[in-house]
Formats: sequence, C-alpha cells, structure tokens
Amino acid sequence: MRRTGRMIFCLAMAVVLSAGGSLWMLKPEAKNTVNGTVQASSLKREGAGSKIAAKGAKSRGDFKIALDAGHQRYANSGTEPVGPGSSVKKMKVAGGASGTATKTPEYKLTLKVAKKLKKILMARGYQVYMVRSTNNVNISNKQRAVRANKSGADIYIRIHADASASSSVRGASMLYPSASNAYVKRLSKPSKKLSDYILKSYCKKTGIKSRGLIKRDDLTGTNWSKIPVTLIEMGFLSNASEDRFMNKSANQEKMASGIADGVDDYFGF
Ligand SMILES: [Zn+2]
Repeated sequence: MRRTGRMIFCLAMAVVLSAGGSLWMLKPEAKNTVNGTVQASSLKREGAGSKIAAKGAKSRGDFKIALDAGHQRYANSGTEPVGPGSSVKKMKVAGGASGTATKTPEYKLTLKVAKKLKKILMARGYQVYMVRSTNNVNISNKQRAVRANKSGADIYIRIHADASASSSVRGASMLYPSASNAYVKRLSKPSKKLSDYILKSYCKKTGIKSRGLIKRDDLTGTNWSKIPVTLIEMGFLSNASEDRFMNKSANQEKMASGIADGVDDYFGF
C-alpha cells in the first residue's frame, strides 16, 4: 500500500454486496456455511488456532486461510465506512504503489504472491479462499473483508507492498488492529500473534529486513474483518533493490513460503 500520508491506501471497490452481506449480518451463524456445507472451522473461534492444534485434534485440513491480493487494476474512488457503523469513510480501493525500477503495479505483484501462497498452503493441506484471482475486478476493501468472513476462513491475510517518498526506505512490516480498535479490538491479540509469526518467518526466508509490527486502526479491510487479520507489507516498491527482488518469480516463491511458514507457526504445525 501506498503510504502517501493520507491514508488511503488500499481500496477496493465497491459492489455493495448487499443482499448477501445483509443476510450475513443478520445471521452470523451462516458465516461458516459455504456452498451449503458446514465447515469444520465453525467449531473454532478467533485466536484459538494454536490452542486447538496443540490439543492434537486438528490437522491443517481443518483450517481455511483467506487471502486478499491487495488492490486491483483500476482504483475505485467511491467511499465506504472504515468500520461497521462508522461515519468516517475512505476510498473503496486505492490505486496502490508501483515499482520504481520494474514499473510493476502493486496489484500485479500481490496477486502473483497470493497465487503462489495459495499453492503452497494447499500443498501443505490447508483450505484456501482467494478474495480475487484476477486483476480486473472491482471489490472494495470492505467487501473483501466480508467475503473473507463469509468464506468460513479462520484467518485473513491481506497482501500488499509498500511505497515511500524516500527511495532508501526498505523492509517488511505487518499491520494489525490495536487493542483499542473501535471495531475489532477482540481480534487484536490473535492478529498480533499471527502478524508476529508471519513477519519473522517471512524475513527469515527472504532476507528482507523487518520493520516490525505496526498497529493500524484506520484500515477498512481490517476493521470489517470478523476473523484474525493481518496485512503484510512485503517490501518497498519505491526502493529499486526491493522492487527488483520482489518481482522475480523465484523470490516470490520464497516470500510465499515465508508467509506459509508463519501460518504453520500460528496454528502450531
Ligand atoms: Zn497496498
């Protein structure tokens, strides 16, 4: 995401999902029902992941991971509430950053990594839900979270790349909701834990410097989540070195593998 100072990052678009969304809001129990089938994850609660795994009663196949490749081909300047019931609104989908050296737009990079991550997670046995699988979509950040919630997923990982006005800034960071978040404070603890595991394994696997865990309560796509959520800023597209690194397929495999390792750590596998 682009941190141009005003926040707007990540947007998504809009399509107000209405019927489905409203129905879901009224019937939370429908959250874990996908295609008419009740998922095993319906027995779980946010943040209980590793505890459940520790009991030895679960395998990777019992967990579903929702992945959102940040941004999309075209930004959507429409607005939506930054959280349930909020009068504060932000852009539905921001344009995202682009590589200073490769010129690769963020939305293309995030989808490439998301697809590789999906393959790795599925090969390890997890269930995976992709918020988007193509670039030419129009899905707002709120809608992305709603889709992740309705998918029956246990955790929600938002994939982004950073940008800065200073080309020397580099490194990866994880954005999670704080314990005083107005909408999802109950998700703060498990989200921080998830963020911590992923950041450590990601940096270890890629060699990218860690910028640490960052509390963010202004992210629409995070505030509408109902499950532990984290947003990874994989590196800086405004830094030529990291831009080139992240846009090499072999490195994307390492990036995805590092994120997957963090997921394993979170669930205790
Ligand atoms: Zn972004």
